[in-house]
Amino acid sequence: MNEKQEHYLAEILPTQHEWVQELEEQAKSGRVPIMDRVGIHFVMQLIRMKKPDKILEVGTAIGYSALRMLEANPNASVITIEKDLQRYEQAIENINQLQKQDQIEVIHGDALEKLLELSNHDHQFDLIFIDAAKGQYSRFFELAEPMLNKNGIILSDNVLFRGYVAEPVNVPKRYTKMVEKLRDYNKMLMNHRKFTTSIIPIGDGVAVSYKISE
Ligand code: SAH
Ligand code: MG
Repeated sequence: MNEKQEHYLAEILPTQHEWVQELEEQAKSGRVPIMDRVGIHFVMQLIRMKKPDKILEVGTAIGYSALRMLEANPNASVITIEKDLQRYEQAIENINQLQKQDQIEVIHGDALEKLLELSNHDHQFDLIFIDAAKGQYSRFFELAEPMLNKNGIILSDNVLFRGYVAEPVNVPKRYTKMVEKLRDYNKMLMNHRKFTTSIIPIGDGVAVSYKISE
């Protein structure tokens, strides 16, 4: 999407609750890469339509997206994984402050490990949101996918990473590997036997993968 369109869509969004604005400020001042407003608005819309009871998130940061997903379906329960201790603690604090601790469980640790533990405990989810280290999306997907019910949805954020994924020229050296991996990831999603996927050029790119068979 071009910048003008992106700006326009952000501009016409309705005003958000005060707690939402406060968390956005918190993310901004701490330089935490939470989902942009237009992107999260889209994710919330999917959640309103799908009404997932059980949501799994990889990459909590300060709890912003978990709380917004819950806002879109107040009956849901969310399990979310964060490996950075400071962010984990900040998320816990934000979630407690809004009294959502009964519905959002934050797990501290590396998702590569924690996803395995969750699947060993027979967890099942209706929606999975992948938004952590971009170079590891394929691993997150492989580990999380078996826990997704049929007709469930996997959302992957940042799959068009700053435009570099679609146009991998002059990619800063520190991103070349990650961009390559995201290109492989997108291709894998598009060709997955069990899923049908649409990639939406909203925010930093959101892949919507719908599980059509077990
Ligand atoms: N979903 C959040 C933003 C997440 S930012 C929101 O939109 O509000 C990505 C987060 O993933 C960072 O906080 C980072 O610490 C975390 N992360 C990166 N790799 C991880 C891993 N392997 N396991 C768990 N968390 C990870
Ligand atoms: Mg993201």
